[in-house]
Amino acid sequence: MGLTIQEIRNNINNARYLYYRTRTQKFAVGAFNIDNQETLIAVARAAQKMRSPVLVEVSNGEAKAIGLDNIRDMVNNYKSEYGIEMYLNLDHGPTVEDCKKAIDAGFEFIHIDISQARHDATDEEIISKTKEVVEYAKFTGALVESELHYFGGSSNFHNEAINYDEVKKTFSTPEGAKAFVDATGVDTFAAAIGNLHGKYSVPKILDLNLLTSIRQSINCAISLHGGSGTPLHYFEDAAKIGVSKININSDMRYVFRTTLEKVLADNPNEYAIVKLMPKIYTEVQAVVEEKINAFGSTGKVFI
Ligand SMILES: [Zn+2]
Repeated sequence: MGLTIQEIRNNINNARYLYYRTRTQKFAVGAFNIDNQETLIAVARAAQKMRSPVLVEVSNGEAKAIGLDNIRDMVNNYKSEYGIEMYLNLDHGPTVEDCKKAIDAGFEFIHIDISQARHDATDEEIISKTKEVVEYAKFTGALVESELHYFGGSSNFHNEAINYDEVKKTFSTPEGAKAFVDATGVDTFAAAIGNLHGKYSVPKILDLNLLTSIRQSINCAISLHGGSGTPLHYFEDAAKIGVSKININSDMRYVFRTTLEKVLADNPNEYAIVKLMPKIYTEVQAVVEEKINAFGSTGKVFI
């Protein structure tokens, strides 16, 4: 059952208050991708146990696979069942139309990412489409996130090493961040400081000095995409510097899949899939708890 416009606006007021708390209390909130209901259950359990606010998010592929209204309903149901502070984010919305549909469905957070979908998009086009979503979002108050350039990597496991010379070419700059935020009016700037989509065979390195400079150049919230495979001490520092949201996907996917493979191998004669899932809930939940701890959001729930 869909939410009324008043319920959507109330949720979004709470989401804005969450971002205010991240800034004043110096913690970041995790945005955890959900491929399916099992992952959502794992995130809900972690949020409940840690008394932490959480975002769950769906990429375009995940949104299309499950359906925006189904995702909204599932999040509403688990929020209520577990008594948790949970919000919903569209991750890398590829077009203005996709973002508008998620706003209509009552998502609290919208990430519009024209450049990820089309690497040849011009700056003017990215700015004008981002502004269109910012304008449309005013109806519900949804918080809009974006950036001018796409991030490297993909949300998968990569065997190759990280080429930092290439990655550095995609870094945000304080001046660029300010110009983009001023031009678009976004609520959240997605910074690129060494964060990369995906999990690599070597740990990632974040440029915290650059993050500090970006923080000083803009007033809006800052997010970090591509949080998987990053040494946790970076997150502790990033939250203190003033990052509000950190996205985690590949670390959860990796544990989901490897645990599933093990459970299937250990139970060759079990065909009731539901009986194979508890081990997966536990393992994915452990990943979420580890991140919550590093982000400093343990005990920060407001309900
Ligand atoms: Zn991302």
